[in-house]
Amino acid sequence: MTTERFFSIHCHFYQPPREDPFTGKIPREAGAEPYQNYNEKITAECYYPNALIGNFERISFNIGPTLMAWMAANAPETYQRIVQSDRANVTTSNIGNAVAQSAHHTILPLARRRDKIAQVAWGIGSYTYRFGHKPTGMWLPEMAVDYETLETLAGAEIAFTILSDEQVQGELRQGAGPYRVKLSAGRSIAIFVRDRLLSNQISFDMEHFSGPRAWAHPALNSRGPGLTLVATDGETFGHHHRGGEHFLKYLLLRDAPALGFRVTSLAQYLADHPPQTEIEFREMTAWSCGHGLSRWVTGCDCTPSDGRWKGALRRALDNLSGEIDLVYTTEAGAFVINPWSLRDAYIAVVTGQMDGPAFLAAQGLGNLPTATAERLLKLLRAEFHRQRMYASCAFFFEELTRIEPRYAVANAARAVTLVKEATGEDLSRGFRRDLSVAVSPRVSVTGADLYDAIITSAQANGLIK
Ligand SMILES: [Zn+2]
Repeated sequence: MTTERFFSIHCHFYQPPREDPFTGKIPREAGAEPYQNYNEKITAECYYPNALIGNFERISFNIGPTLMAWMAANAPETYQRIVQSDRANVTTSNIGNAVAQSAHHTILPLARRRDKIAQVAWGIGSYTYRFGHKPTGMWLPEMAVDYETLETLAGAEIAFTILSDEQVQGELRQGAGPYRVKLSAGRSIAIFVRDRLLSNQISFDMEHFSGPRAWAHPALNSRGPGLTLVATDGETFGHHHRGGEHFLKYLLLRDAPALGFRVTSLAQYLADHPPQTEIEFREMTAWSCGHGLSRWVTGCDCTPSDGRWKGALRRALDNLSGEIDLVYTTEAGAFVINPWSLRDAYIAVVTGQMDGPAFLAAQGLGNLPTATAERLLKLLRAEFHRQRMYASCAFFFEELTRIEPRYAVANAARAVTLVKEATGEDLSRGFRRDLSVAVSPRVSVTGADLYDAIITSAQANGLIK
């Protein structure tokens, strides 16, 4: 074991997706002024300034694939600088510092294995397309974890992920690790363990971390040999704390080195220090809810309200998923041996690497009659929106009528209309009935009301045939 001290900051950059699934555009958002929407606002406050002063080269980071796609189209300079930051590390050390993320911020332990595989495959596909090389590590949304999730990562040749210290058991003799978790069939995965206390001190008490009242410098300095890992939301630096990008820069360039720490990225550190010891972790936990995952299923005490709508919404989404899957596999099963492999490969269309017909040709389906090909592509698109409706943000907060649950219902509505366009089958009646059981704790609005408003608006704008 090393006697040197290393330091790494991992930033998780993510925004709840805001695009209207019928138009692909983000509506103007109140509160984001003078910007059109929060993506633009947070780009101006955080992503761009951090990219401009070179922070992305010095941190370890992941950016949600949906946010990265938005940035590529709407903030190209920021996007290019971020991609170049990873590339600069590849050039100097052959190891990039960007980490992948599963595609839609789904709470993976709550998803069936097949959906875990799709989310991970799409995360890897998106990363590889944007950064030009395969990822070594993958960020788990909310750090939510179970064995099947880790098995899925290992099965996709992901070498490491990150958990928080309250999610693991036993003494952490080697700081942030990496530690090894044994999996089935002789496989294993490396786990980096973040320092929760230090991460929270930096995130929520940044102003006391540097400068004349720097009480937290001793906190960093008290850490032992090996790696100390801070992992937090990247928006901390510039959005939650104005000017926080400069704090981050000086912490990594000046302060940590002055205390004798060598600053590194996780992928680099793993290459230099493979795991020596095993660790146990607590299944069905997350960094935001160490007690369990009920927040995203039935509600938990972390949000001060009646969360019963969450269970009803999840049931509606799950029932609809089963129906969409049945329509899709029936159709696709006529042409391919494994409809799920076809769905996993569909990320190439999502990222824009190829259009639908080129995708089908690449999959050996170039000879389908035009009408059949169009039907299959619509059902693949429905599968995409059916995955998107599980973005965890929908279940994170206390209120059904917030923008995030609406987004889940809107993606479901888009999937329903695509299935109807493709096959004539109308899944709306059962879905709407399931949604009527999801009731806002504050106002007399149900999930079915949200659904109706979305459909009415799409019809008024000529977006549904
Ligand atoms: Zn909780």
